[in-house]
Amino acid sequence: MNTETTAGQASHRAGTIAVLGRPNVGKSTLVNAMVGAKVSIVSPRPQTTRHRMLGIATFPEGQLLLVDTPGIHGQQKRAMNRMMNRAARGAVEGVDAAMLVIEAGRWTDDDALAYKALRDAGVPCILVINKVDKVTDKAALLPFIAEVTAGREFSAVYPLSALKKRGLDGLVKTLLEHVPEAPPSHDEDEITDRSERFLAGELVREQLMLRLGDELPYSATVEIEKFELDGEMLRIAAVIWVEREGQKPIVIGKGGERMKAISTSARHGMENLFGRKVFLETWCRVREGWSDDEAALRRFGYSD
Ligand code: GDP
Ligand code: MG
Repeated sequence: MNTETTAGQASHRAGTIAVLGRPNVGKSTLVNAMVGAKVSIVSPRPQTTRHRMLGIATFPEGQLLLVDTPGIHGQQKRAMNRMMNRAARGAVEGVDAAMLVIEAGRWTDDDALAYKALRDAGVPCILVINKVDKVTDKAALLPFIAEVTAGREFSAVYPLSALKKRGLDGLVKTLLEHVPEAPPSHDEDEITDRSERFLAGELVREQLMLRLGDELPYSATVEIEKFELDGEMLRIAAVIWVEREGQKPIVIGKGGERMKAISTSARHGMENLFGRKVFLETWCRVREGWSDDEAALRRFGYSD
């Protein structure tokens, strides 16, 4: 790669890369690792990422706008799932390249669906085989790669661990080769296109996903009612919306313990991300049927 311009200055590359794959393969973890901050929430549960969002990763050689997406999956009965699939597919339009993220040792129908979405869009596709830290038999990796790449078109293949931040350098170099020579479109301290208000809501939702196990599958979302700077401190009020009265005690927990834990951890996450003290109030309220109601989804910030 020629990194010198005729004027003798190092060239700069900048462009957009979509991150696709089925739920839970580690797309958001990978985006955060490349950005170097938690711009996209992560949990062991599928459908943690509900929105398309941009992580901005700035390197000396260039800037990558990483489009994190909700996972693509075949089941799309609810309006929210349909919107998430549309958001994922829409993310491929106009990008310079895409990463298809899969889990080492597993190739499923939903992986094939995500691959097909990329082929249909005609963008160069880099295969990221994530979670190699979980693979005990490293020798099994080569036949797995051979099986997945057979008859499919990938411009590069990277086995790596997003969680342990291992194997990322080569991937970043390849991604930079896939974007055009261009000046950076964002300041180097910008890490996402989303507002702090939005990120605050996501951090509360991350705690819900982490602490509620399977008790609350789809039916909780978060709305930030107040986001105010008061001197050096941020005053934030968050409402956790559930679909049924009976779900409130699950969120609140015995003696309010769970709500308190959610609130404390979310506040720590916010203080980390925003670099200032946060005063956070959290409430739990009921709105029936929100996850199958497109108007309610839009109000809660979902879009396709
Ligand atoms: P997404 O749904 O594709 O965005 O996946 P997430 O980034 O939310 O990650 C899903 C789960 O996989 C979380 O529990 C992550 O901690 C975990 N995870 C992500 N990357 C890795 C990895 O490289 N190794 C291991 N062991 N776990 C990972
Ligand atoms: Mg995600």
